[in-house]
Amino acid sequence: MKIAIDGPAGAGKSTVAKIIADRLDLTYIDTGAMYRAIAYGLIHYDISETDSNAIVDFVREAEISLRNNRVYLNDLDVTSQIREPEVSQMTSVVSVIKEVRNMMVDKQRQIAKGSSVVMDGRDIGSVVLPDADYKFYLDANLEERARRRENELEEKGISQTFESVKEDMVQRDFSDMNRQESPLVCTEDAIKICTDHLTIDEVVQKMIEAVGDGHDL
Ligand code: C5P
Repeated sequence: MKIAIDGPAGAGKSTVAKIIADRLDLTYIDTGAMYRAIAYGLIHYDISETDSNAIVDFVREAEISLRNNRVYLNDLDVTSQIREPEVSQMTSVVSVIKEVRNMMVDKQRQIAKGSSVVMDGRDIGSVVLPDADYKFYLDANLEERARRRENELEEKGISQTFESVKEDMVQRDFSDMNRQESPLVCTEDAIKICTDHLTIDEVVQKMIEAVGDGHDL
Protein backbone atom coordinates (compact mmCIF):
# COMPACT_ATOMS: atom_id res chain seq x y z
CA MET A 1 0.00 0.00 0.00
CA LYS A 2 1.20 3.51 -0.77
CA ILE A 3 -0.10 6.61 1.03
CA ALA A 4 0.85 10.12 -0.08
CA ILE A 5 0.54 13.12 2.23
CA ASP A 6 1.13 16.63 0.96
CA GLY A 7 0.58 20.10 2.37
CA PRO A 8 2.31 23.29 3.49
CA ALA A 9 4.83 23.56 6.35
CA GLY A 10 3.41 22.95 9.82
CA ALA A 11 0.17 21.33 8.65
CA GLY A 12 0.98 18.26 10.78
CA LYS A 13 2.03 15.92 7.97
CA SER A 14 5.01 14.27 9.63
CA THR A 15 3.30 13.86 13.01
CA VAL A 16 0.32 12.01 11.54
CA ALA A 17 2.43 10.15 8.97
CA LYS A 18 4.53 8.60 11.77
CA ILE A 19 1.43 7.48 13.67
CA ILE A 20 -0.18 6.04 10.55
CA ALA A 21 3.03 4.23 9.64
CA ASP A 22 3.04 2.70 13.08
CA ARG A 23 -0.64 1.70 13.09
CA LEU A 24 -0.69 0.28 9.56
CA ASP A 25 2.83 -1.14 9.67
CA LEU A 26 4.12 1.00 6.82
CA THR A 27 7.55 2.54 6.27
CA TYR A 28 7.52 6.29 6.83
CA ILE A 29 9.46 8.36 4.32
CA ASP A 30 9.98 12.02 5.19
CA THR A 31 10.94 13.59 1.84
CA GLY A 32 11.31 17.04 3.43
CA ALA A 33 14.11 15.59 5.56
CA MET A 34 15.82 14.43 2.36
CA TYR A 35 15.76 17.95 0.87
CA ARG A 36 16.88 19.32 4.22
CA ALA A 37 19.83 16.88 4.33
CA ILE A 38 20.97 18.18 0.94
CA ALA A 39 20.60 21.79 2.11
CA TYR A 40 22.60 20.98 5.25
CA GLY A 41 25.32 19.39 3.09
CA LEU A 42 25.64 22.51 0.94
CA ILE A 43 26.18 24.64 4.03
CA HIS A 44 28.47 22.08 5.66
CA TYR A 45 30.66 21.61 2.58
CA ASP A 46 30.55 25.32 1.74
CA ILE A 47 28.90 24.96 -1.67
CA SER A 48 27.47 28.25 -2.92
CA GLU A 49 23.70 28.46 -3.35
CA THR A 50 24.30 30.25 -6.66
CA ASP A 51 26.47 27.46 -8.11
CA SER A 52 23.81 25.19 -9.61
CA ASN A 53 26.35 22.89 -11.26
CA ALA A 54 28.14 22.23 -7.97
CA ILE A 55 24.79 21.67 -6.23
CA VAL A 56 23.67 19.18 -8.86
CA ASP A 57 27.04 17.35 -8.65
CA PHE A 58 26.72 17.23 -4.88
CA VAL A 59 23.20 15.77 -5.01
CA ARG A 60 24.30 13.16 -7.56
CA GLU A 61 27.01 11.88 -5.21
CA ALA A 62 25.13 12.33 -1.92
CA GLU A 63 23.99 9.26 0.01
CA ILE A 64 20.87 10.08 1.98
CA SER A 65 19.31 7.47 4.19
CA LEU A 66 16.44 7.39 6.65
CA ARG A 67 16.92 4.76 9.37
CA ASN A 68 15.11 4.36 12.71
CA ASN A 69 13.69 7.88 12.54
CA ARG A 70 17.15 9.35 11.94
CA VAL A 71 18.46 11.11 8.86
CA TYR A 72 21.95 10.44 7.49
CA LEU A 73 23.93 12.30 4.88
CA ASN A 74 26.97 10.31 3.71
CA ASP A 75 26.66 8.33 6.96
CA LEU A 76 26.75 11.50 9.08
CA ASP A 77 23.78 11.74 11.45
CA VAL A 78 22.21 15.13 10.58
CA THR A 79 18.83 14.59 12.27
CA SER A 80 18.95 17.62 14.53
CA GLN A 81 21.00 19.96 12.34
CA ILE A 82 18.50 19.81 9.46
CA ARG A 83 15.84 21.58 11.56
CA GLU A 84 17.93 24.74 12.04
CA PRO A 85 16.35 27.88 10.48
CA GLU A 86 19.41 28.42 8.26
CA VAL A 87 18.92 24.94 6.77
CA SER A 88 15.17 25.52 6.26
CA GLN A 89 15.95 28.61 4.20
CA MET A 90 18.57 26.82 2.13
CA THR A 91 16.09 23.99 1.49
CA SER A 92 13.78 26.35 -0.39
CA VAL A 93 16.72 27.40 -2.55
CA VAL A 94 17.74 23.86 -3.56
CA SER A 95 14.23 22.52 -3.97
CA VAL A 96 13.49 24.81 -6.94
CA ILE A 97 16.30 23.32 -9.07
CA LYS A 98 14.86 20.99 -11.68
CA GLU A 99 17.82 18.56 -11.83
CA VAL A 100 17.85 18.33 -8.04
CA ARG A 101 14.15 17.50 -7.97
CA ASN A 102 14.51 14.87 -10.69
CA MET A 103 17.25 13.11 -8.74
CA MET A 104 15.36 13.35 -5.46
CA VAL A 105 12.19 11.96 -7.05
CA ASP A 106 14.23 9.02 -8.41
CA LYS A 107 15.73 8.37 -4.97
CA GLN A 108 12.30 8.58 -3.32
CA ARG A 109 10.69 6.19 -5.81
CA GLN A 110 13.60 3.82 -5.34
CA ILE A 111 13.10 3.82 -1.57
CA ALA A 112 9.34 3.25 -1.97
CA LYS A 113 9.73 0.50 -4.55
CA GLY A 114 8.45 -2.85 -3.41
CA SER A 115 7.41 -1.67 0.06
CA SER A 116 4.30 -0.37 1.72
CA VAL A 117 4.94 3.25 2.55
CA VAL A 118 3.50 6.48 3.81
CA MET A 119 5.42 9.35 2.27
CA ASP A 120 5.01 13.04 3.05
CA GLY A 121 6.16 16.15 1.24
CA ARG A 122 4.97 18.67 -1.35
CA ASP A 123 4.85 16.71 -4.62
CA ILE A 124 4.11 13.18 -3.46
CA GLY A 125 0.57 12.78 -4.81
CA SER A 126 1.32 14.85 -7.89
CA VAL A 127 4.77 13.64 -8.98
CA VAL A 128 6.52 11.05 -6.79
CA LEU A 129 3.66 8.58 -6.29
CA PRO A 130 0.88 9.66 -8.68
CA ASP A 131 -0.59 6.14 -8.41
CA ALA A 132 -0.64 6.12 -4.60
CA ASP A 133 -3.59 4.16 -3.18
CA TYR A 134 -4.52 7.06 -0.92
CA LYS A 135 -3.67 10.73 -1.19
CA PHE A 136 -4.19 13.30 1.52
CA TYR A 137 -3.67 17.04 1.53
CA LEU A 138 -3.35 18.54 5.02
CA ASP A 139 -3.77 22.24 5.62
CA ALA A 140 -4.25 24.70 8.51
CA ASN A 141 -4.23 28.47 8.82
CA LEU A 142 -0.91 30.27 8.97
CA GLU A 143 -1.08 31.31 12.65
CA GLU A 144 -1.84 27.76 13.72
CA ARG A 145 0.90 26.26 11.57
CA ALA A 146 3.47 28.79 12.81
CA ARG A 147 2.47 28.12 16.41
CA ARG A 148 2.92 24.36 15.92
CA ARG A 149 6.30 24.87 14.25
CA GLU A 150 7.43 27.19 17.05
CA ASN A 151 6.55 24.48 19.62
CA GLU A 152 8.34 21.80 17.60
CA LEU A 153 11.48 23.92 17.37
CA GLU A 154 11.32 24.69 21.07
CA GLU A 155 11.11 20.97 21.87
CA LYS A 156 14.24 20.46 19.78
CA GLY A 157 16.02 23.23 21.69
CA ILE A 158 16.03 25.64 18.73
CA SER A 159 14.94 29.12 19.77
CA GLN A 160 13.27 31.34 17.19
CA THR A 161 10.64 34.02 17.80
CA PHE A 162 7.05 33.39 16.71
CA GLU A 163 7.24 36.30 14.25
CA SER A 164 10.35 34.97 12.59
CA VAL A 165 8.97 31.40 12.43
CA LYS A 166 5.88 32.86 10.74
CA GLU A 167 7.89 34.98 8.34
CA ASP A 168 10.07 32.00 7.31
CA MET A 169 6.94 29.96 6.79
CA VAL A 170 5.31 32.58 4.56
CA GLN A 171 8.43 32.74 2.39
CA ARG A 172 8.81 28.97 2.20
CA ASP A 173 5.11 28.44 1.37
CA PHE A 174 5.30 31.09 -1.34
CA SER A 175 8.34 29.45 -2.89
CA ASP A 176 6.87 25.92 -2.59
CA MET A 177 3.53 26.93 -4.12
CA ASN A 178 4.83 29.15 -6.88
CA ARG A 179 7.99 27.45 -8.09
CA GLN A 180 8.06 26.26 -11.67
CA GLU A 181 9.05 22.67 -10.90
CA SER A 182 6.38 20.55 -9.21
CA PRO A 183 4.84 23.22 -6.99
CA LEU A 184 2.76 22.23 -4.00
CA VAL A 185 -0.78 21.50 -5.23
CA CYS A 186 -3.78 19.64 -3.91
CA THR A 187 -4.47 17.06 -6.60
CA GLU A 188 -8.09 16.41 -7.57
CA ASP A 189 -7.97 12.88 -6.21
CA ALA A 190 -6.61 13.88 -2.77
CA ILE A 191 -8.71 13.98 0.39
CA LYS A 192 -8.27 17.48 1.81
CA ILE A 193 -8.27 17.80 5.60
CA CYS A 194 -8.20 21.17 7.32
CA THR A 195 -6.56 20.45 10.68
CA ASP A 196 -7.25 23.87 12.30
CA HIS A 197 -9.65 22.69 14.96
CA LEU A 198 -8.70 19.03 15.04
CA THR A 199 -6.45 17.18 17.45
CA ILE A 200 -3.73 14.90 16.06
CA ASP A 201 -5.87 11.89 17.02
CA GLU A 202 -8.84 13.28 15.15
CA VAL A 203 -6.80 13.83 12.00
CA VAL A 204 -5.34 10.33 12.22
CA GLN A 205 -8.81 8.92 12.79
CA LYS A 206 -10.17 10.59 9.64
CA MET A 207 -7.29 9.26 7.60
CA ILE A 208 -7.48 5.71 8.97
CA GLU A 209 -11.23 5.71 8.30
CA ALA A 210 -10.66 6.75 4.69
CA VAL A 211 -8.07 4.00 4.25
CA GLY A 212 -10.19 1.44 6.12
CA ASP A 213 -13.25 2.25 4.05
CA GLY A 214 -11.26 1.74 0.88
CA HIS A 215 -12.33 5.32 0.11
CA ASP A 216 -12.98 5.69 -3.58
CA LEU A 217 -10.26 8.10 -4.75
O1 C5P B 1 8.49 19.05 4.98
P1 C5P B 1 9.55 20.05 5.34
O2 C5P B 1 9.01 21.34 5.88
O3 C5P B 1 10.62 19.47 6.19
O4 C5P B 1 10.24 20.40 3.93
C1 C5P B 1 11.28 21.33 3.83
C2 C5P B 1 11.31 21.93 2.43
O5 C5P B 1 11.71 20.94 1.48
C3 C5P B 1 9.98 22.46 1.88
O6 C5P B 1 9.70 23.77 2.30
C4 C5P B 1 10.20 22.37 0.39
O7 C5P B 1 10.89 23.49 -0.09
C5 C5P B 1 11.09 21.16 0.23
N1 C5P B 1 10.36 19.95 -0.15
C6 C5P B 1 10.01 19.80 -1.47
N2 C5P B 1 9.40 18.64 -1.89
C7 C5P B 1 9.12 17.68 -1.02
C8 C5P B 1 9.43 17.82 0.34
C9 C5P B 1 10.03 19.00 0.75
O8 C5P B 1 10.26 20.69 -2.29
N3 C5P B 1 8.56 16.55 -1.47
